[in-house]
Amino acid sequence: MKDKKITIAIDGPSGSGKSTTAKIVARKLGYRYIDSGAMYRAVTWYFLSSALNWKSAEQLDQGLSKIDIDIRLGQNDEPMTYLNGVLVERQIRSMPVSDNVSEVSSLPEVRKAMVDQQRKMGQEKGVVMDGRDIGTNVFPDAELKIYLVADTEVRTKRRLKELHERGVEASLDEIRRNIEMRDREDSSRVLNPLRKAGDAIDLDSSNLSIQEQVNFVVEKAQETIHRK
Ligand code: C5P
Repeated sequence: MKDKKITIAIDGPSGSGKSTTAKIVARKLGYRYIDSGAMYRAVTWYFLSSALNWKSAEQLDQGLSKIDIDIRLGQNDEPMTYLNGVLVERQIRSMPVSDNVSEVSSLPEVRKAMVDQQRKMGQEKGVVMDGRDIGTNVFPDAELKIYLVADTEVRTKRRLKELHERGVEASLDEIRRNIEMRDREDSSRVLNPLRKAGDAIDLDSSNLSIQEQVNFVVEKAQETIHRK
């Protein structure tokens, strides 16, 4: 019998290893990986690079109606974010985007547009989606929910390495400040804050290798799939 496909939600603060873990887990299970943070980053990049200001309700509406976000697999099967047909993977990881994304993603209009699209992308199941509100809001019925955390210092160093690998310049202090600011803003916003779902499994990745995190999630996924 063919295995039943499930939905896997991985939530947690910035730099906890969600994206790396989710990407490899998806590959191992033959599932689609969706980085919901990349979508909020693409919206932020759109406004930063256009003449439209998200602080004006009218311009926000106008901008959102023009935004088309797509995540396609590039070389080495790496997910790449496209905004209106243009590859923006590098731009959305820049510090100006990181500094503004929490404000943009707290806007109800932005959340509604992104959540609608995320639900559509996941309606066939067989998806691993990472973010802040996937288990609590986007897919409250996801069969497997993981809440991934790590020490701030570990997260800061990971982020620095990741940015340097992508060719983005940033200092340790700048990244630490940004991570702390986003932790604060993402957990305190009114709409869909960063929160552990009641039925999520805790995973602290501070002292784990990527391999160990991946194995943990894949094992839980196999158990869930075969329990169905
Ligand atoms: O995952 P990443 O750190 O790239 O996410 C960037 C930002 O997007 C977060 O700091 C948060 O403000 C926003 N976000 C969100 N809801 C999600 C995913 C990301 O509000 N599901």
